[in-house]
Amino acid sequence: MGVQVGLTVYAPTKAVADEACRAAFARVAQLEDAMSDYRPDSELMRLCAQAGGPPVPVSRDLFAVLSQGHDLAERSGGAFDVTVGPCAQLWRGARKSGRLPTDEEWQAVSRLVGWQKMHLDPDAQTVQLAEAGMRLDLGGIAKGYALDQALVALREHGVTRALAVAGGDIAVGDPPPGRKGWRIYVWQAAKGKRRLIVSNCGVSTSGDTEQFVEIDGQRYSHIIDPRCGLRYGEPILATVVAPDATTSDSLATACVVLGQEKGQRLANDVPGVAVYIRRAYTK
Ligand code: ADP
Ligand code: MG
Repeated sequence: MGVQVGLTVYAPTKAVADEACRAAFARVAQLEDAMSDYRPDSELMRLCAQAGGPPVPVSRDLFAVLSQGHDLAERSGGAFDVTVGPCAQLWRGARKSGRLPTDEEWQAVSRLVGWQKMHLDPDAQTVQLAEAGMRLDLGGIAKGYALDQALVALREHGVTRALAVAGGDIAVGDPPPGRKGWRIYVWQAAKGKRRLIVSNCGVSTSGDTEQFVEIDGQRYSHIIDPRCGLRYGEPILATVVAPDATTSDSLATACVVLGQEKGQRLANDVPGVAVYIRRAYTK
């Protein structure tokens, strides 16, 4: 997933903490093996290799992530879309070469992008990708899912007071002993630093500040608008608090694509969600 994963836990003894954390890290590693798009032998890439063919049975984890991604694609009008893979590949190419993809290159990939081309069958737990050459990219949702699952693994080993973090994504369980919640600070436009006290939820921040490619003085973000290609314009940051980190991770990415107003509107429609969107270079 390209980031370090950190765990903070409270447990009755160090032995309990060690064992629980080992199990949680093992679970995260298992999910990375399944969902990475850098490893040609991951479950995800094996699924993509069968694009254009018949439905493919997938694991529960992969099915869960893809159905949540599908659902958000529908609700966000395609702003969040895990079929964005071929565009993301062009972005990685641009980052390497320092040159923008040509119109022909865009046209070639745009035919392969679109959540309507990904068919999920919940009864059979299969996934069918309609066009050969389609490529799924779970970079905007899988970290959140892995953190949620890390908390589940900790809980199974008797540890409920925990925080898991990976880059801009955080999942928290029960509060530290004697506290109301975990303290997390977010920047809010105009109001400055704001303290949140949270438990049993996900908190994710997405934005254009850390990963971008600059070509001819223009910054292009690693968060892509699947409907029109590389995204540029005013860099923004979105922080989302949601009932779990799978939801906060994917919604934060969607909010960056949609921008302040539409992002806010999308998040307002989801129960138990708060969103803070701000321009990236002002406090
Ligand atoms: P980060 O990876 O910096 O934590 P995000 O959670 O916002 O940030 O995820 C960005 C990643 O999501 C990109 O690197 C890419 O893999 C993927 N992605 C980019 N654009 C989209 C999109 N419109 N919908 C879904 N996933 C996307
Ligand atoms: Mg995200």
